[in-house]
Amino acid sequence: MSSPPSRWAMPLFLLTLLALPISRASGWGEEGHHAINSLAVDCLPANLRPLYDANRPWIALHGVDPDLWRIGYAPEGPHHFIDLDTWGPEVAIHFPTDYWTACGLYGQAAIDKNGVVPWRIGLYYGKLVRAFKEHDAKAIIETSAWLGHYAADIHVPFHAAANYDGQLSGQRGIHARFETALLRRQIKPTDLKSRPARLLTDPVQAAFGWARESLRQTVPILAADKEAVVNDATYGDAYYTAFGAKARPIAVRRLEDGAQDLASLWYSAWVAAGKPELPAPTDVHADEPLDKRTHDPDLPVTASPAK
Ligand SMILES: [Zn+2]
Repeated sequence: MSSPPSRWAMPLFLLTLLALPISRASGWGEEGHHAINSLAVDCLPANLRPLYDANRPWIALHGVDPDLWRIGYAPEGPHHFIDLDTWGPEVAIHFPTDYWTACGLYGQAAIDKNGVVPWRIGLYYGKLVRAFKEHDAKAIIETSAWLGHYAADIHVPFHAAANYDGQLSGQRGIHARFETALLRRQIKPTDLKSRPARLLTDPVQAAFGWARESLRQTVPILAADKEAVVNDATYGDAYYTAFGAKARPIAVRRLEDGAQDLASLWYSAWVAAGKPELPAPTDVHADEPLDKRTHDPDLPVTASPAK
């Protein structure tokens, strides 16, 4: 895979993410989002590759943008997670995949507060289908990058659990230890392998499957954390050596699954659009700085304030 933008060249606006509550600040952290969005390009079939390859640096860098839209716009927050087990383990397995059915059972306010990321994926998938139908190259690339954010977030185990930061099991901080610190210490983008995109018949159903797998993976991660902290309660090198022995393979798998599933969303959207002719494979943001702030036009202007 090509390297995503250097982690050392972090645009200043990303520093504002540090102002967000750590428990749900940034999904995979910027390295994880860059890696998933970039690796997804390698998972695409040959016909879609040239267009996405020509825009890979933009797609990789702007995989974090929906986290920036949360600054100053609180309703964006629950678009990034779903606490599948809030109403118990049985409900987690059979969580209603239709939004209005779920609202009918638990109330719309509770469903919206509990997190809606699978439906957010469905919404951005629909936008991508429209962009392909309209041959709108800029909309294809931007929607693909933003869809990548939500697809990556749903593959973060602690974005699918009520115990999202270990706060219910005396393991506070596990969210950042797993999704950010472990990645920085032990995983490079070149460690990740691409797998071919698959055709999805129902992206929202698929997204619920990804969330259920995320929730399942919290169990071995929490167990690894409990064991590792016995070696090193300061969360230093000894902790991460022990924690990584069990948690690193899970993180690698979730990152690789995230990239493959994101590519499957991109590919399936093109198929659902009727396999239209693709725009010329050029960099659609060539005339502006790579790190120029974005704003989803469907969000209120209060979201994503100017730099
Ligand atoms: Zn996020």
